Amino acid sequence: MIQCDICGKSVQYGHLIRHTHSGLWEKRATKNPKIFRPNLHKGKVLLNGKIKNVKACASCLAKFKAPRTVKIPASA
Ligand SMILES: [Zn+2]
Repeated sequence: MIQCDICGKSVQYGHLIRHTHSGLWEKRATKNPKIFRPNLHKGKVLLNGKIKNVKACASCLAKFKAPRTVKIPASA
């Protein structure tokens, strides 16, 4: 299933409405069914002090982003 491992965000259903939602267009505008999918990516996050590989939404990846390990050359 398409779901964020951290926050549980998943598919939502709604309408795609053309034109503004006010005045005459409120009754006349076409309303097509639309599926809103979460913006999922694979990445490493820091949860409870441990780095984990997860499939999470972009906002969760930005919040819990794991720090990059920097390799220092031996000769320096
Ligand atoms: Zn999330």
